[in-house]
Amino acid sequence: MFDRASVVTPGGVNSPVRAFRAVGGTPRFMVSGTGPYLTDADGREYVDLVCSWGPMILGHSHPEVIAAVQEAVSRGTSFGTPGEGEVALAEEIVARIEPVEQVRLVSSGTEATMSAIRLARGFTGRAKVVKFAGCYHGHVDALLAAAGSGLATFGLPDTPGVTGATAGDTVVLPYNDLDAVRAAFAAHPGEIACVITEASPGNMGVVPPADGFNAGLKELCAANGALYISDEVMTGFRTSKAGWYGVDGVRPDLMTFGKVMGGGFPAAAFGGRGDVMAHLAPAGPVYQAGTLSGNPVATAAGLAQLRLLDDAAYAKIDAVSAELRSLVGDALTKEGVAHTVPAASNMFSVFFTDEPVRDYDDAKKQDVFRFTAFFHAMLEQGVYLPPSAFESWFVSTAHDERAVERIAAALPAAARAAAEATA
Ligand code: PLP
Repeated sequence: MFDRASVVTPGGVNSPVRAFRAVGGTPRFMVSGTGPYLTDADGREYVDLVCSWGPMILGHSHPEVIAAVQEAVSRGTSFGTPGEGEVALAEEIVARIEPVEQVRLVSSGTEATMSAIRLARGFTGRAKVVKFAGCYHGHVDALLAAAGSGLATFGLPDTPGVTGATAGDTVVLPYNDLDAVRAAFAAHPGEIACVITEASPGNMGVVPPADGFNAGLKELCAANGALYISDEVMTGFRTSKAGWYGVDGVRPDLMTFGKVMGGGFPAAAFGGRGDVMAHLAPAGPVYQAGTLSGNPVATAAGLAQLRLLDDAAYAKIDAVSAELRSLVGDALTKEGVAHTVPAASNMFSVFFTDEPVRDYDDAKKQDVFRFTAFFHAMLEQGVYLPPSAFESWFVSTAHDERAVERIAAALPAAARAAAEATA
């Protein structure tokens, strides 16, 4: 399948994170998923710790989500008109997340952050955007800049195809460094439209915000007339009922969502302050649109999933996450492998270093070659981890005792492989 895919698709995958470039080998082609398990084209079953990179928080093929999808599909798949499902999903988001007064549905997290930034620029009449190195906000041109750490560095495009002009209004700063943010505001008075940050980053591995970091960002934005945009595409509806906002209570001006709210379908959103959202077309002048935005099947899936995510569901996910963190930590300790297992609520990852990791530069200092050995040993034993040392691991309500036992059984050999790995 990979050979066939490689003929017709660049690199054989439709999103680079699915390739095994970082770890080597051939990506597994999955044909079905049930609960915490995925089955590949050769009939091998894996305990899934990727969960479609976050969305499958109830596990695969949850019967109530599937039933909602089947019911929606039976009524048609897209109307290009308003529909009740999108209103219900928007109401659910507004009800859960207090700072969101209004919300606009889109089809991907990338669209959500791209639109939120356009709205922030339109609302403030300013051009510059501050982002943090190691934070991923989708493949938005202006946000694909991650110049190395350094004070108020102008973004250099991270990829060919993004022009200097596009990235030139992006200021990239080291994560968890409020002094750098202060300096950026001082260097560009009246020019910064917004600061965008992952609410709690999961795209450089899990690197939670230091105490007071998000609150400090909010304060600096407010003092300088800029908007504070919290990207909750990954953390939203996962790290608590109200996402990371439910954990730290820092009130953003705008927020972005995706993943969990789509129930495995392409649905995402951005929302926030009513006076800011009022600038969006057709209520206001900032244009934003989408043929499939608020798609009836996607909204039915998302709504069904969110309605099942009550306090008991989060308690279960948190408990499984805590158990896995301690199993992984114990296995690596036993083999003498330097590691840390940082967590942001139930999101966690493993860094192969025992130094503290506060930003992207710290994260890059880990022994990536040990992760590679660990990853392949787990895969061989039927545990599917993210194929990169810089990704969060995800669990679901479906990760039951049997799934945890299978992971536990695989860990000693994987920890040994990590210990024996050489650079
Ligand atoms: N923002 C964050 C924090 C993400 O983790 C991602 C995707 O992983 C995105 C935005 C982009 O979302 P999508 O892949 O749906 O475009």
